[in-house]
Amino acid sequence: MQDEDAGEDKFTGARRAMVEEQVRKRGIASPRVLEALLSVPRHEFVPAEFQADAYADKPLPIGEGQTISQPFMVGAMTEALELAGSDRVLEIGTGSGYQAAVLSGLAREVISVESHTSLALAAQERLVRLGYANVHVHNGDGSLGFADAAPYGAILITAAAPEIPPLLASQLCEGGRLVIPVGSQEDQELLQARKESGVLHSRVLFDCRFVPLLGRYGWTRPGRKSS
Ligand code: SAH
Repeated sequence: MQDEDAGEDKFTGARRAMVEEQVRKRGIASPRVLEALLSVPRHEFVPAEFQADAYADKPLPIGEGQTISQPFMVGAMTEALELAGSDRVLEIGTGSGYQAAVLSGLAREVISVESHTSLALAAQERLVRLGYANVHVHNGDGSLGFADAAPYGAILITAAAPEIPPLLASQLCEGGRLVIPVGSQEDQELLQARKESGVLHSRVLFDCRFVPLLGRYGWTRPGRKSS
């Protein structure tokens, strides 16, 4: 866990500009979220050949056909989780581990599930090396959630789902928040849902486009929904 700018490095200026221009000026106001984005060295989470673009206003390839989300999207999703600092958070879709690192400073513990074994192993190794000790990566189908450590104060799905996976709703605490892109494989809406009296109430934040959630409650493969 780190609570200030990630030391001085050659990307410090680019990181500050990213937070100011791409995130704060577009409406992400939470000081804690902005600080979390300032604290994480995003260039450590992208492949070497894309390092020069690490702070650019776009998603980048991370291998296996997957992407690290655009900085604004990470800021918006993080803010929508409304983390108080004491929550345990479940992330589905570890990818590079960047979003999990951003969550690390805002939560008590982050459990992140990734279905690609190579990505899960690389992200776990990276998060340990960079000192994010309260993040734990698991390799498996996150469309089932992660029952072993449930319930969670907040759940974030960073891949596009055809609907809110039912087991995720059951693994959320009363009063907990769930943030997820829902729609087709081409276009989705980012939803923020809150569990009240055992029922999820959701609202649309904005349109978005994510790589597909595969697995039992996602799509079997690009173009098809499971079951
Ligand atoms: N949050 C990531 C980016 C996520 S991209 C970051 O900060 O870098 C979406 C990720 O979801 C991909 O890595 C993809 O492999 C993963 N994914 C897709 N379906 C999944 C599933 N059923 N369970 C777990 N991970 C899944």
